[in-house]
Amino acid sequence: MKTTRKYGEVCMVCEEEKDQGLHILHQFICQECEQKILTAKTNDDYYKHYLSQLRKLKLVNASS
Ligand SMILES: [Zn+2]
Repeated sequence: MKTTRKYGEVCMVCEEEKDQGLHILHQFICQECEQKILTAKTNDDYYKHYLSQLRKLKLVNASS
């Protein structure tokens, strides 16, 4: 577990700490991933990964 905190937030898609991005459904998505999602086709592997991350987070939120 990391104890040091930067002012960045952890992107829900790539799970890396970034300081620029947006919040969607109370989750943080970095600019890089946002662009990938915007340009991804709905049958894209990346888009599927994004959706599965969303689903995962909803499950985590529901069970806590
Ligand atoms: Zn990201």
